[in-house]
Amino acid sequence: MINGKTNTYGIVGYPVGHSFSPMIHNYLADEIDINMVYIPLPIENKRFEMAIKALKTLSFSGCNVTVPYKMDVIGQLDVVDKNAELIGAVNTVKILDDKSYGYNTDYLGLIQSIKDEGVSLEGQNVIIIGAGGAARSVAVMCATEHAKSISIVNRTLVKAESIATLINEHFDCKVSAITYEDLNMKNDFTVAIQTTSIGMYPNVDNTPIVDMSILSKLDFAIDIVYNPRETKFMRDLNQMGVKTIGGIGMLFYQAIKAFEIWNDVTVDGELCQRAYERFLEYLDQ
Ligand code: NAP
Repeated sequence: MINGKTNTYGIVGYPVGHSFSPMIHNYLADEIDINMVYIPLPIENKRFEMAIKALKTLSFSGCNVTVPYKMDVIGQLDVVDKNAELIGAVNTVKILDDKSYGYNTDYLGLIQSIKDEGVSLEGQNVIIIGAGGAARSVAVMCATEHAKSISIVNRTLVKAESIATLINEHFDCKVSAITYEDLNMKNDFTVAIQTTSIGMYPNVDNTPIVDMSILSKLDFAIDIVYNPRETKFMRDLNQMGVKTIGGIGMLFYQAIKAFEIWNDVTVDGELCQRAYERFLEYLDQ
C-alpha cells in the first residue's frame, strides 16, 4: 500500500525495460512489510549528469544503477565505498539526509553465491578469464576473499595488466596478467572464474578455452554468464568432474545485497529461498 510515508527507489539506466529489479524489490518489501516502492527510471544519456541530484530533489531513498552508467555515476556521489571505488563501478546508491552513498553489490552478490555453494577462495590459485568491467569486481572479490594468487588472461593484454596493477597496489595478493598462449603452459590453477561474454546467448556453443585439460586440477569453477544458466564452459568442466557455479546466483544476490543496504535488514533463510524461486519464475516467463 503506497501512502504519504512510502520510500521511493528505482533503477537508473538505459534501457531498463528488461530489468527484474522492480519485481524483486517490490516482492521483498511486500513480504517483510517495508513501506517502499521500486520503479524503473530510464534516463537517456544527455540527461544522466543530473540524475542523482534529481533523485535527491525528489526525496528518493536510493537507486540501482545499471548499463551504461555504473562508472559515470561515481562522479555524482558524495561518498563511495572503498571497494566500489577500486572496482570503478557503483550499482547501488543509498540517499540519506541529502547525502548519496555508492556501493558495488555485484561483487558482494558473487561472494554470497560462492558461500551458498559451500566453497571458498581462501588460499586458492585463481585464473580469471577476461578483463572487462565484470572482471574488475571479480578480481577485487578474489583479493578480499584472500586468494593466494590471481592470474588474469585476456585477449587484450593491456586490460588484464591494468587490473593486475590495481590489485597489486591495494591488496596483499600476487596478481599477474597473462596471454592465452601463456595459459597453455600452466596448469596449477585451483579455481577458474570465467568473466568474458563468450558462451552467452545466442552463442551458446562457444567457450574461451580451447584445451580444457589445463583446468583439470580445479577445485571448482565459476562462470558469471547467466544466460544460459549452464554454459558450454561449465558443461565441459562438469564432464571432467569439476564442480561449477553459474552466474545466476550473483545476479540474484546483487539485488538482495542492495535491499539489505537500503533497509538495514538481513534477507536470509526461507524468505531468500522464496524470493529466489520468484526470480527464476520471472526469468523463465
Ligand atoms: P565487457 O566489459 O564488455 O568485457 C567483455 C570481456 O569478454 C573482455 O575481457 C573481452 O576481451 C572478452 N571477450 C569478448 N569477446 C571475446 C572474444 N571473441 N574473444 C576473446 N575475448 C572476448 O563485459 P562485462 O561487463 O565484463 O560482462 C562480461 C559478461 O559477464 C557478460 O556476459 C555479462 O552478462 C556477465 N555479467 C554477469 C553478471 C552477473 O550478475 N552474473 C554481472 C556482470 C556481468 P577484450 O578485452 O579483449 O575485448
